[in-house]
Amino acid sequence: MKDAVEGGPFLGDFPVILYTPKWRSYGLVIKGNPRNQYILFYCPFCGKKLPTDLVDEHFDAIRDDTGKPLDPLPEEFKTDEWWKKRRL
Ligand SMILES: [Zn+2]
Repeated sequence: MKDAVEGGPFLGDFPVILYTPKWRSYGLVIKGNPRNQYILFYCPFCGKKLPTDLVDEHFDAIRDDTGKPLDPLPEEFKTDEWWKKRRL
């Protein structure tokens, strides 16, 4: 899995299997566009369960109490810093 994420195969600028640190997600990228990806729940190579993704948690965390996105977005939410800090 690590090899696939770090070493390709690539389609355009993105690996076919993409790890997104801010979401802690592994995704199967569709047509080289990371906006379109199937989140993977299990490793496609060995079947091991992958960590639970934080896509929904991230969506909530970057919004204020009224549901508006934080602007500017704090740097921590662009990386894995936010969920590591919160021990998620
Ligand atoms: Zn595996």
